[in-house]
Amino acid sequence: MFKTLQVFSVLGIPVHVTTNYPGWLIECLQESRGTHVVTLNAEMTMQAEQNPILAEVIQKADLVIPDGAGVVLYLRWLFWQKVERCPGIELAETLLQEIGKHLTDTKVFFYGGAPEVAAKAAEFWQQEIPSLNLVGNYSGYHTPEVEAQLKQRLTQLQPQVIFVGLGVPRQELWIAQNRHLCPDAIWIGVGGSFDIWSGTKSRAPAWLGNNNLEWLYRLYQEPWRWRRMLALPQFAVKAFIYRFTARGAI
Ligand code: UDP
Repeated sequence: MFKTLQVFSVLGIPVHVTTNYPGWLIECLQESRGTHVVTLNAEMTMQAEQNPILAEVIQKADLVIPDGAGVVLYLRWLFWQKVERCPGIELAETLLQEIGKHLTDTKVFFYGGAPEVAAKAAEFWQQEIPSLNLVGNYSGYHTPEVEAQLKQRLTQLQPQVIFVGLGVPRQELWIAQNRHLCPDAIWIGVGGSFDIWSGTKSRAPAWLGNNNLEWLYRLYQEPWRWRRMLALPQFAVKAFIYRFTARGAI
């Protein structure tokens, strides 16, 4: 039985709510159901407002999870939903652990990050879960020739789970353009997760995450992000206006 998803609209962008995202993805995997997973946060929602192509890609994605605190607060505030945050990196980690325990034939591929980062992340996971079938990894910085090679490799290997860490919106657009290469695969945009897994960067301490302040840690680690982060107050203002002008059911 396919687990159901509830769909809500966050400023016109869909977000899917279920109590068990990893379970939903495992079902996709078992049924060879090609899936594009988007991890939605306030910043991405604001980008989608400015970028109709990104908005369309998110509309067409099979699973849009509430990755960011802003999205979760929005859902609680507008729809009175008891929604929990599902950070993309944690969903990816749970999926890898489940695959390593129960579905060890599953072929997994990492694509993205600075040179050596995807390889180091793969090395980390291979040590964590020796049964994991990591069939390949590619850095996210390369020439068009290497990109052609990558696509050929994906076509030959047919991995069933493909993590793409190129940042937003690059990874979402890339997945939408290339998912036909492995139509039965789960494709997940994982942002900077390879940086974390490879030890290049660290995640915010749990207490910051629990208080919806993970963004503050990112700002501390990467001060150059301040301009991008102006999207957060913008999102809050828009949510406030939306709350009193319309209720966003899809
Ligand atoms: N990246 C990449 N190729 C590019 C641009 C970026 O592989 O052409 C990688 C970068 O090295 C980093 C990730 O994409 O690992 C972006 O991480 P970030 O945390 O900025 O993601 P976002 O916040 O956009 O989800």
